[in-house]
Amino acid sequence: MAYLSEKEIIDKINILRKKLNAVILTHNYQLGEVQDIADFTGDSLELSMKAANTVADIIVFCGVKFMAETAYILSPEKKILLPVMESGCPMADMADADELRKVKAENPGAVVVCYVNSTAEVKAECDLCVTSANAVQIVSSIPADKKIIFVPDKNLGAYVQKKTGRNMFLWPGFCPTHMRITPEHILRKKAEYPNAVVMVHPESRPEVIELADEVLSTGGMCKFAKGTSKNTIIVATEMGIIYRLQKENPGKLFIPVSEQAICPNMKLTRLEDVLSALEKGRYEITVQENIRVLAKKPIERMLELSEKLMKN
Ligand code: SF4
Repeated sequence: MAYLSEKEIIDKINILRKKLNAVILTHNYQLGEVQDIADFTGDSLELSMKAANTVADIIVFCGVKFMAETAYILSPEKKILLPVMESGCPMADMADADELRKVKAENPGAVVVCYVNSTAEVKAECDLCVTSANAVQIVSSIPADKKIIFVPDKNLGAYVQKKTGRNMFLWPGFCPTHMRITPEHILRKKAEYPNAVVMVHPESRPEVIELADEVLSTGGMCKFAKGTSKNTIIVATEMGIIYRLQKENPGKLFIPVSEQAICPNMKLTRLEDVLSALEKGRYEITVQENIRVLAKKPIERMLELSEKLMKN
């Protein structure tokens, strides 16, 4: 590609998205400049709802692969583009369908719940999908006598188990980025900013969650930050969220709990990649039809339950 200024790249993206009837969906952890050109920025739940309801022909998904797969599972008639093919999620890759089938065989009758951060093959083996925004509520809606297999995030699983008191098998997966956040990081920032409120993402270690004032998904963090009267907020999640929080709340101070909390996969997508995605129709994400049909059920059940819970 000939050298283009940022403005020229953005202009081209704007022309192409209109011409192709494309929508750009961006996760809260993406680079600031990518968030700025998005039609919508949000967390996994918000993004899957948008993907399910958009009338666009093309969805450019600025996030990681399981998110683009989820969009395809819900809307196979649309073209789903992931600008950087290598942007995967190590946590999603920690669970595979063969192993899950073994665990299911060892726990007959258990309800299988997957975090949305999982592959399509794993989702196809599950009864219900959750995101960090709705996991506690959705697991609470499962009949109390049922054992639950929760895959793949042991930290989110442990948090849900603690909140609901349910009998759960926790898959031993984790997010390497959130695992880098330690209790010492939080304690240090709390000592520095004694009047601050602490928001923690539930992918964090239990010892970190223990120190939270609020345990929230990234979408929940954005809402909480707007509504709180506190002006200083310590944020324990991936650093990318700070850009959005600061942009939406210029009068407040957001303190990232650790500068090491950066997901390398979420930082791969640049404006140039979004433009290439639109220009070259790449990289198209699809899911084998038999897997897609099975994987759609737990996601649809989640979306139905979430909509009901939001109305109540
Ligand atoms: S932040 Fe963690 S869970 Fe999210 S994409 Fe990166 S590795 Fe996966």
